[in-house]
Amino acid sequence: MPSDSPHSSRKRRFRQDRSMLIGAAAGVILLIIFIIAGSVSGAKKEKASKPDGSDGVSSKVVSSKLEFEKKVVPLSDISKGSLILVNDSHPYTSATAGGSLADIDSEKNEYYSIRDIGMKMNDLALKNFNSMMNGFYQECSNRDIMVTEAYVSADRQNVIYNQALENSRVESKGGYSEHQTGLAVDLGIYPEEGKSFRYVPSGDYAWIRDNCTKYGFIERYRDEKAENTGIRDHGEHFRYVGIPHAWYMKENDLSLEEYLQALKKYAYGSKTLQVSCFDRNFEVYYIRARDESGSGNVELYVPVNCEYTVSGNNADGFVITIEK
Ligand SMILES: [Zn+2]
Repeated sequence: MPSDSPHSSRKRRFRQDRSMLIGAAAGVILLIIFIIAGSVSGAKKEKASKPDGSDGVSSKVVSSKLEFEKKVVPLSDISKGSLILVNDSHPYTSATAGGSLADIDSEKNEYYSIRDIGMKMNDLALKNFNSMMNGFYQECSNRDIMVTEAYVSADRQNVIYNQALENSRVESKGGYSEHQTGLAVDLGIYPEEGKSFRYVPSGDYAWIRDNCTKYGFIERYRDEKAENTGIRDHGEHFRYVGIPHAWYMKENDLSLEEYLQALKKYAYGSKTLQVSCFDRNFEVYYIRARDESGSGNVELYVPVNCEYTVSGNNADGFVITIEK
């Protein structure tokens, strides 16, 4: 056994000194970690409790680049906007007929005709329809398109419905036709020579079917989707929904019914739907309408400092579309 020599005792003392030193250093490091952790959690607490000026609710950040604020709108706005759904189970009840109606005859360009003087259409839809007819003419030098139906009042729709019944045809009752929104048109083809017929996507006329999404329109009633739209054999009907929505529906083979359902996956607070088309970038999300206070109003979250549009879905919520 080695004796406890002065040398080994020095060694032990040295070891003791060294372990004291290590212990002290570890203590200092722990202290520093505590201080840093404390200040970070303090900052977090401060951030979380900092009011944003709207009832103390902090605005949520959904994606890294966007910030949102609260906006209160009347619940009745649910039946306004370019994405409203009108079909057999979603009647159109808005008294304002989809915002402002424009007189087609006074706003139209020379690249198409209308069946009657006095026909009306939603002003935004008309502006985009004019652009589409301009594009069609530039590409095909063809002016054969005639608008055979546009905005239809509920009363007139009931007349159409009753006439159709007498002739064993199927038409929507007043309140259930998309034409009441002013966002839809039926197209006919009226060549200078030869017989007129309702729109079919053949020859030059295929250009409209192939390019309508660029102007925010969809072929609303494709026969393949008749099971969920409830309407078949109405291929001359085009509906304005807005560019990113039209493009996405066509790319993903969705009817308006299916698209609005799919958008519910992109509810506010989760991820947004990113749509890039025609050199433009959009973000889309859905907010369920909840009038919890019974005030007749609902709270939406809209982006701060960027352009956006709000549309009801005429069912249970709102769709916000941001252009980036
Ligand atoms: Zn129609």
